[in-house]
Amino acid sequence: MQLGALRHLRFDPAACRGRRYPEPPHPYRTEFQRDRDRIIHSRAFRRLENKTQVFAPGLSDHFRNRLTHTIEVAQIARTVARALGLEEDLTEALALGHDIGHPPFAHAGEAALDELMRRYGERFDHNLHALRIVESFEQRYGSFRGLNLTFEVREGIVKHSRDFEPGELPELDEFLPGLRPPLEAQLIDRADEIAYNTADLDDAYSAGLIEFEQIVASVDRFRKFAEEVERLYPSGSERIVFHEVLRRLIDWLATGLIEGTCEAALQAGVSCVEEVRRYPERLVRFSGQADETNAQLKAFLHAHVYHSPPLLESRKRSAQMIAELFDLYVTQPELMPPPYCEEAKEQPVHRVVCDYIAGMTDTYFYRTYERLFGRSTLDLK
Ligand code: MG
Repeated sequence: MQLGALRHLRFDPAACRGRRYPEPPHPYRTEFQRDRDRIIHSRAFRRLENKTQVFAPGLSDHFRNRLTHTIEVAQIARTVARALGLEEDLTEALALGHDIGHPPFAHAGEAALDELMRRYGERFDHNLHALRIVESFEQRYGSFRGLNLTFEVREGIVKHSRDFEPGELPELDEFLPGLRPPLEAQLIDRADEIAYNTADLDDAYSAGLIEFEQIVASVDRFRKFAEEVERLYPSGSERIVFHEVLRRLIDWLATGLIEGTCEAALQAGVSCVEEVRRYPERLVRFSGQADETNAQLKAFLHAHVYHSPPLLESRKRSAQMIAELFDLYVTQPELMPPPYCEEAKEQPVHRVVCDYIAGMTDTYFYRTYERLFGRSTLDLK
């Protein structure tokens, strides 16, 4: 594949649809560089440091948290974007913002809030929550609420992992329903997968949840790389071999993503961003072999890590604590600090409570829970 082979499909910053509240251009930063900078300077971004990715920090200081995961996604996504000739600043802004809507306690937190909101006929989705954060919750500018990000970054946030048809989600009608997002936005979801599949393997191995030989037996590409690495470093410790295999695996998946996308886009014959948008499917994809590796990795992690007793147990407890706090605030909204307690007089209480809890870091959640219920959570941290 030629470097920059898809530069004709790059989203040109000059074609940006602009911001909700027009602002004069910056003398030397593009609109997407400004968006990236606004995301990095937001409170929601800093909070990622104290939000669990998969493994709660209690067992080790080396696990990914949602901030270090985000940096890994940005690094992979930028590499892919640059190799294909796509718009790197837009890609970086989207990667850095892709998880800012995550509630405390990773997927357990998201599933718990979603279940609680269903009682009221509503849902919780971290991508839609991220849109609410950048549209209104962040308050740091004199002339508008939110971060006033460009259309393309907000569109990328709501289409992170799915597209939607006209009328399917009326609140998102302004974000071009029925159309795919540009390639820069499409690739974030895949870069996210590469980052978390390989990182979860690493963290689970470090935590002693899985054995080297188990991975060898289940993931073909891991076995092939292990054979190669053992030949190269016959006296290397298992840990060194593991890490040499892991870096090859990340490279294999990122290369597979670059090649698969290039092939799909050239085969589809799309010649500009507008045609990428109108193409019936997403064009960012893994090559066949990388796709198989990705699927095997996913299956392995589901079978041996995500449903392992320690993770299931901690998920169950987080979900239970979230439900307890949610119910307490719904019945006594005055226990929430301003402006939430005031907002609860004007808006549906469950919505305000959900937004408040979703914004919490794990540590802030524990502190709040301990104060309100008088129970220690020390054994959970
Ligand atoms: Mg992520």
